[in-house]
Amino acid sequence: MDCIFCKIVAGELPAYKIYEDKRFLAFLDINPVNKGHVLVIAKEHYQSFAETPHDVLKDLIVKIQDVSKAMTEALGLKGFNVVNNNGAVAGQLVEHLHFHIIPRLAGDNLHPWPGKTFSDEEMKRTAENISKQL
Ligand code: 5GP
Ligand code: ZN
Repeated sequence: MDCIFCKIVAGELPAYKIYEDKRFLAFLDINPVNKGHVLVIAKEHYQSFAETPHDVLKDLIVKIQDVSKAMTEALGLKGFNVVNNNGAVAGQLVEHLHFHIIPRLAGDNLHPWPGKTFSDEEMKRTAENISKQL
């Protein structure tokens, strides 16, 4: 499989590892947004959030919490972002499910996304459309 993260899992590519067990791996992002930017993955290759089995996701989110607590202690963080980019249009470059834990620092100028305004009718229709699929 031609997947960078599978190669890191297999030990074929190096990484600064933070945590590893049979199913999960956390390591430093090679191009960190801030110092200590971590990626957390399931070792099994799943391309997207949607195709990842519930039991994997449930345990993965707990690992993300564990790692974020360790980062908070080690780096003295006041805050961080947990981010999952899904699909190329959302900025997903590596097609192996991963969550970013990005340390946030006061004044780091990483501005949040701007909000948009939609009419009440559009908001209502959008909420109903999504809700119907659940
Ligand atoms: P995405 O845009 O897919 O959500 O994020 C992919 C992330 O993987 C990027 O932040 C990028 O810096 C990181 N990355 C890409 N290749 C490597 C690599 O070989 N090693 C490590 N540690 N991180 C990588
Ligand atoms: Zn992979």
